[in-house]
Amino acid sequence: MQERKKEKMKEKIVILGSGESGVGAAILAQKQGADVFVSDFGTIKPTYKEELTARGIPFEEGKHTEDIILSATTIIKSPGIADKVAIVKKIKEKNIPIISEIEYGYLYSNATIIAITGTNGKTTTTSLTYHILEKAGLDVGLGGNIGTSFARQVADGDRAYFVLELSSFQLDNCIRFKPHIAILCNITEDHLDRYDYQFEKYIQSKFSITKNQTEQDYFIYCEDDAITIQHLIKANPHVQKIPFSYHKEIQNGAFVTNQEIIIQLNKNNFTMPISELSIQGIHNSYNSMAAAISAKLVGVRNEKIRESLEDFKNLEHRLEFVATIKGVDFINDSKATNVNSTWYALESMTKPTVLIAGGVDKGNDYTLIKELVNSRVKAIICLGKDNEKLHEAFASEVGYIVDTQSMEQAVQMAYNISEKGDVVLLSPCCASFDLFENYEDRGKQFKRNVINL
Ligand code: ADP
Repeated sequence: MQERKKEKMKEKIVILGSGESGVGAAILAQKQGADVFVSDFGTIKPTYKEELTARGIPFEEGKHTEDIILSATTIIKSPGIADKVAIVKKIKEKNIPIISEIEYGYLYSNATIIAITGTNGKTTTTSLTYHILEKAGLDVGLGGNIGTSFARQVADGDRAYFVLELSSFQLDNCIRFKPHIAILCNITEDHLDRYDYQFEKYIQSKFSITKNQTEQDYFIYCEDDAITIQHLIKANPHVQKIPFSYHKEIQNGAFVTNQEIIIQLNKNNFTMPISELSIQGIHNSYNSMAAAISAKLVGVRNEKIRESLEDFKNLEHRLEFVATIKGVDFINDSKATNVNSTWYALESMTKPTVLIAGGVDKGNDYTLIKELVNSRVKAIICLGKDNEKLHEAFASEVGYIVDTQSMEQAVQMAYNISEKGDVVLLSPCCASFDLFENYEDRGKQFKRNVINL
């Protein structure tokens, strides 16, 4: 393999955090002949422990042994570990380079990279892009914040293309990482606790996806997203810029007119009625446009793109239809962990809605959805340990608002107050870890209780 990495000295690599990304990085580092050590302050999942043991990779859990960690030549830090953690501060004081698993994988891959970031829509756009490329017969891998780690896949064998979903935390420790195509879905306030409560820092982190791109590369972004546009004008990265819009006609990019997606790129036009997209809602038209542009840029033919956008299977927990019971539709949007994603969920509701919302609020501004709640929501079931903010924001907007701390009860309450022709929507606006393990657990509990009605 002719790697992007040029130096050939023996490296001492310490990996902080031992989830899928940390273990993947460890496997790749071992393959490259480095001295590897994995350190996790929490507990490591048994399957990962077994894997590290079987491969002869030394590790520790429940502690960080400073002597070993601070003697590393490079640290690969898992995205879940914040910079304010004591060991990270010490590593920084010693000026030991800290990189992400994505950066490390990139150094040993020659693939053309399509990287996708944004506040909402990353997983959908990434999966959709991968689906199109794979269906077109390209040699493509799917990784990043989704499924098997990028580094592990690179260790197992390189690909011609990788489609990577990247969180801002993964981008933060990228240094040379240069995607040929970068997609920024949108930017709204989220995760500010990790960015000193400064929105600007979070925006910069998202935009760092373009930092090494050149005029041979592409940046695909949402023309309707005011934050993106403001920052783009300021930063003006030297890259070919391709916008998509739901509201404006775009000369070199994608837009929607008369309920049809049009992509104009290199004098080759792509058209497709929105009604034929397998995933519906304005947000999914955005995601479909972004994915289709990137597929066109790597040469996939219009027919294949159209076919793939038609038969893409919606992902679990994202506006997922569960069942219709006595004329009431139940929809699981458990992945909506911020106000913006719930905005799009409500926006796509065409029936009177009973909304189940609540959980851990990451500093939500509920005024953003007040109008939609007022016009589309008949009742709110607050499902969280602390529901005060929801009451404050919506008590005067809906006729009925109640509290519960159990999913079983939430579903039962929603069922009792809904009528034929209504929809019950779980779209919480909040993170899940006050009452659930994670958003998947929350969504699965919702579905189980709906099926048991
Ligand atoms: P991410 O990986 O960025 O969290 P997902 O594709 O998993 O994004 O979707 C997360 C939530 O946001 C879901 O509730 C989904 O319905 C909603 N969503 C998806 N795409 C968008 C978008 N482009 N804009 C706003 N919300 C979106």
